[in-house]
Amino acid sequence: MSSDSIAVIGAGPVGLVSALAFARDGFDVTVFEAEDQLNLAPRAMVYLNPLLPDLDELGILDDMKRRGHIDRDGFNMHLVALDEVLSAPNSVLDGLMPTPFNVHLGQGEVCAIVLEHLGRLSNVEIKWGQALLGLEQDGDGVSVTLQAKDGRQSIERFGWVIGADGGRSATRELIGATAEGTTWDERFVATNVFTDFRSLGMKSSNMYVHPTLAAVIADIDGHGLWRCTFQESAELPEEGLRQRIDDYYHALLGEDGVYEIDTYSPYRMHQRMSTKMREGRVMLAGDAAHLTNPTGGLGLTTGLYDVIALREGLGAVIGGRADESVLDRYEAERTKTFTEISSPTATHLKNVVYGHHDAETLRVLTEPMRQGTKDLESQRQMLLGLDAVRSPSLLSSAADAAEGHALAHLAE
Ligand SMILES: Cc1cc2nc3c(=O)[nH]c(=O)nc-3n(C[C@H](O)[C@H](O)[C@H](O)COP(=O)(O)OP(=O)(O)OC[C@H]3O[C@@H](n4cnc5c(N)ncnc54)[C@H](O)[C@@H]3O)c2cc1C
Repeated sequence: MSSDSIAVIGAGPVGLVSALAFARDGFDVTVFEAEDQLNLAPRAMVYLNPLLPDLDELGILDDMKRRGHIDRDGFNMHLVALDEVLSAPNSVLDGLMPTPFNVHLGQGEVCAIVLEHLGRLSNVEIKWGQALLGLEQDGDGVSVTLQAKDGRQSIERFGWVIGADGGRSATRELIGATAEGTTWDERFVATNVFTDFRSLGMKSSNMYVHPTLAAVIADIDGHGLWRCTFQESAELPEEGLRQRIDDYYHALLGEDGVYEIDTYSPYRMHQRMSTKMREGRVMLAGDAAHLTNPTGGLGLTTGLYDVIALREGLGAVIGGRADESVLDRYEAERTKTFTEISSPTATHLKNVVYGHHDAETLRVLTEPMRQGTKDLESQRQMLLGLDAVRSPSLLSSAADAAEGHALAHLAE
């Protein structure tokens, strides 16, 4: 083992993008994934415009654009009870930034693209079917215990470990941390569906605020496949869900509405933050560190911004350009971003979209969005404000994470 080597636990989007970032920077990286293959279930699928230059710098944006849907429509909130649509199209960013669009693509397909890129690098290894079981660290490195599917155990040694092993993170448990916060009473049902949502007035991306049929609806591929996520009580048994999905679509599209369910996935939602994001040479990133309901697309987005911060901080520590206090700064900045921006914004948006509010309450709750979409300058600020999920440079001495957070006022 070299003291520069990095183990990444988990081949989800955060783990694989971490592997790509560090491998491109010249470090030896090994990814350990408990399963034998990528998880292709319908999960995150929207990549917001401020993050795209970073994905471009990693070399994956062109492939994502080729295989995904380019969303120029931006923010659209349909307030059915008020007969009002609040919009901020991405076209208002033309000329202001290199990527005035969002990209829509299933996170499994993004992982597949990253895997292809990793396959072209000689300093990365992916070990499938190897689950993290134990961590022991000293001043020089970390001994990582892994368990194969047949129960065989092995120990490998690395300089550093990035725990990107998702919401039930073993890494988090092994560093003695817990995910503190709440679990929502409701369950989300993510459906991938072939239907003609455009004929209902939907744009590429929509928050459909309806008294009984509320959903987040987004175009997946520009060729008829859409994601529609609605909410139901988590007390309902999962059996019977397929029928309830049909009931939902009949209510939304009418009894004669034409649709075909491709895949679906029910899931519980949380607002939780790990009590630690760092213990010595072990860092957490992505859902291992924080969990949010996905309204607004801030779950994976926040995880990918973790990678950007960690790449800078850990890269500088390993390269001898910074001392380890930068890694404490990583923990502090990313915790602050999640607890002050991502989590409250996603909570507010979930409440607005799925809260069944009367018209007057809805008008009050959506006033920040109304102000944020009222003219060209406000729309620009609102869309660019999504970059608030990025931390300031961990290496600058006077970073100001609170500056210019147009997104934060959505949560007020
Ligand atoms: C149904 C659904 C819909 C969602 N929709 C959205 C959305 O629209 N927008 C959004 O932003 N977010 C959404 N999310 C959340 C988003 O999917 C997560 O934020 C994202 O997957 C986090 O990526 P990650 O790489 O941190 O973790 P994960 O994607 O969970 O990846 C973790 C990986 O670690 C592996 N692993 C676990 N334990 C171990 C171990 N002990 N050893 C080795 N490997 C291990 C797992 O097998 C997995 O491959 C959704 C989630 C779900 C479930």
